[in-house]
Amino acid sequence: MESKQTLGFQTEVKQLLQLMIHSLYSNREIFLRELISNASDACDKLRYQALDNDALYEGDAELRVEISADREAHTLTLRDNGIGMDRDDVIANLGTIARSGTMEFLKQLTGEQKKDSRLIGQFGVGFYSAFIVADEVTVNTRKAGTPASTGVQWQSRGEGEFTVEPLERAEHGTEIILHLREDALEFAEEYRLRHLIRKYSDHIDLPVRMQTVVDSSEQEGEEKTVPVWETVNEAQALWTRPRSDVSDDEYTSFYQHIAHDGDAPLAWSHNRVEGKLEYTSLLYVPSKAPFDLYQREGVRGLKLYVQRVFIMDDAEQFLPLYLRFIKGVVDSNDLSLNVSREILQQDPQVEKMKSALTKRALDMLKKLAKNDAEKYQNFWNAFGSVLKEGPAEDFSNRQQIAELLRFSTTHTDQPLQDQSLADYVSRMKEGQQKIYYVVADGFNAARNSPQLEIFRKKGIEVLLLSDRIDDWLMAHLGEFDGKSFADVAKGDLDLGDVEDEAEKKAQEETAKAKQPLIERLKGVLGERVADVRVTHRLTDSPACVVLDEHDVGFQMRRLMEAAGQ
Ligand code: ADP
Ligand code: MG
Repeated sequence: MESKQTLGFQTEVKQLLQLMIHSLYSNREIFLRELISNASDACDKLRYQALDNDALYEGDAELRVEISADREAHTLTLRDNGIGMDRDDVIANLGTIARSGTMEFLKQLTGEQKKDSRLIGQFGVGFYSAFIVADEVTVNTRKAGTPASTGVQWQSRGEGEFTVEPLERAEHGTEIILHLREDALEFAEEYRLRHLIRKYSDHIDLPVRMQTVVDSSEQEGEEKTVPVWETVNEAQALWTRPRSDVSDDEYTSFYQHIAHDGDAPLAWSHNRVEGKLEYTSLLYVPSKAPFDLYQREGVRGLKLYVQRVFIMDDAEQFLPLYLRFIKGVVDSNDLSLNVSREILQQDPQVEKMKSALTKRALDMLKKLAKNDAEKYQNFWNAFGSVLKEGPAEDFSNRQQIAELLRFSTTHTDQPLQDQSLADYVSRMKEGQQKIYYVVADGFNAARNSPQLEIFRKKGIEVLLLSDRIDDWLMAHLGEFDGKSFADVAKGDLDLGDVEDEAEKKAQEETAKAKQPLIERLKGVLGERVADVRVTHRLTDSPACVVLDEHDVGFQMRRLMEAAGQ
């Protein structure tokens, strides 16, 4: 058996510890949320693995967390009987940051306490938050189903190093002993602890217990106290409760638990579906985009439960990609307990649930837009460009998505995307048949594009598009409210009935008169252009480049060039 070993933390961990200890001071209590959440994850994992192998419970199937404090010794101890860790797990999990994106995380830390504390939860660096309140942390653990002699003790003062050594441990699961800093002794106070436990774990399925001392001296006539473990939290999975029983605060703190996000969600939708398919879903709209929203391997998907048993995180089969920002839980009564990702991909039931959950999510957004413009704007600023992927990915919900889109337009001339297509349509000129848009690299380029001159002169509104996805969006949107879309930089400009006959005639005459000039320009530009025409698009600029009706847009060209095509 190996003896005690001293190992160094990964560089990123060292950096993180430094930052955390100094920046999270005002929000120290979150360490308890993180540690309870880890215990709860560990119990979920054991419950799941024990589905195939009962023996892993080692005769103790009553999963729980126990918390006790010793005011004299200045310690706070959390004990769970979850899955536990072996030596390799300990070194990997409590010595490095396994998740990708760590560096990105560290870059995002600003030194601003409030912001940083929110980020920390998101990155799953929760365990290290113990060092905000502790100057020494001891972890005693043993993996369920392994011999008592394979226990491990991990210890660190949160500086550069930690030690690991073998430990004889009868119980499986994990015990974390925090030696509290002088200025964090409040966390050894029973009253404070009870309050925090309820705050952070009422909604999780796992009982969190504390020891209370019951005085039984009366009958005996002598001093005699008996410690009793008492469950402090509600310990009922929140989504299993009826909607009317759950307060907004509870919905919010449940969101913070599952999404690892310190902010409140913008909206949620909690539904029980009965009938052919039976399941409960609880979907949330976050208020802020995670760092990996645009990364291919970014975290997405719902937490999947089957009959209340936790099955997996990030089950991405229940929502389309363009709704990847939605967080939440789905608990199915029909799926099999040993369902895998591969099975989920093929199961027709899952496909049906996906389509229903997509509708729920879109409905939730529609309601938010209707009831709270400010929150909806917050949502749009964070996730609008993801939602814009929708029309291409999900043809059947194209119209619902179109209603949710927001644009900046020549009506406001502001970069803020806050105008709906319905707003646009309501302002259309008499005789105008199309919804006009211009696509450019940035808002200013769009706003100043010479193609807009004639539209401004005639008071016709134009959508100002400058997100990378916008050409792609327009190519798939088709129409809105019976009106098709027209790129002002493409093809012949047809302003429909907004143009009057006299103007048209005048233009034709100018075109004829300028024929010699056109010929000369064609000669000079040669192969580089398909055609040179007199236009009435412009009122101030002398010339502009336009694309043929069926040409690929400027933005898409650039994307294709970047991709080497
Ligand atoms: P996260 O929970 O997001 O993975 P943490 O820093 O909170 O990040 O924990 C790191 C890892 O340490 C966990 O993923 C888990 O593997 C392990 N771990 C932490 N606490 C426990 C525990 N009580 N029981 C078993 N494993 C744990
Ligand atoms: Mg954690």
